[in-house]
Amino acid sequence: MSLATRERLEKAMRAGIVVPQGLIAHGRGEAFDYILGEETLPAASAATSAAAALLLTAKHPVVSVNGNTAALAGREIVNLSLAISAPIEVNLFHRTRRRERLIAAYLKRLGSEEVLGIGEAASNAIRGIASQRRRTDPRGIGQADVVLIPLEDGDRAEALSRDGKKVIAIDLNPLSRTSRAASVSIVDNVIRAIPALTDAYNKMKKMPRDRLERLASEFDNQRNLAKAIQEMIQYLRGWA
Ligand code: ATP
Repeated sequence: MSLATRERLEKAMRAGIVVPQGLIAHGRGEAFDYILGEETLPAASAATSAAAALLLTAKHPVVSVNGNTAALAGREIVNLSLAISAPIEVNLFHRTRRRERLIAAYLKRLGSEEVLGIGEAASNAIRGIASQRRRTDPRGIGQADVVLIPLEDGDRAEALSRDGKKVIAIDLNPLSRTSRAASVSIVDNVIRAIPALTDAYNKMKKMPRDRLERLASEFDNQRNLAKAIQEMIQYLRGWA
């Protein structure tokens, strides 16, 4: 894992965008990134195509962003949101007005037109979550049919799925509750996964709708997660 990435997170923590718990979550991610060879595996590419198909056929797609995602892939997230015409909504586990505003201002500096979920705007709640993470914006995740959740915690991923939303997760840990609860889990680093998703979306734009719908509905997330684990084992076997 590059030193520059760690420095970026440290700087974002000093700026108030990332919280200390975010650094711990990053450490968990780094460990998994090592055991998949720090590159995009075939299972992740398959999930990316299914995710692009879901986004291309969605009525109200929304990109959910937290502190780590903004710090690690802010520019890439803004590019994706513009490419797929989906709003960005800030959603924080450790929610404070100041942090929300800092993240929104940062994303706007990177080119995002509007950032949802700030302050009073997050007036809806997802059932079944006790933390501040339950709050959603009625103009964003509140009405979304497809939600992209990079670096999510299991409770919220499960609650969004229970609410009938199609969930696309980006999580380096194929064993996490988030990965298992999502409709499509991309087991890859957000730094690589988000630009890959934008590319896939742009390449698949001209595909006929029925083909996209088939691609999305035929994707078997549990089977693809098993494939990701097999690919990790294969990589580790090379070292062993
Ligand atoms: P669960 O989903 O079971 O609740 P958790 O408690 O680990 O898992 P979080 O605390 O929100 O959930 O952790 C965030 C997840 O993000 C972890 O699974 C971690 O592996 C993953 N992660 C951390 N950094 C990255 C990254 N740069 N790219 C992709 N995934 C990452």
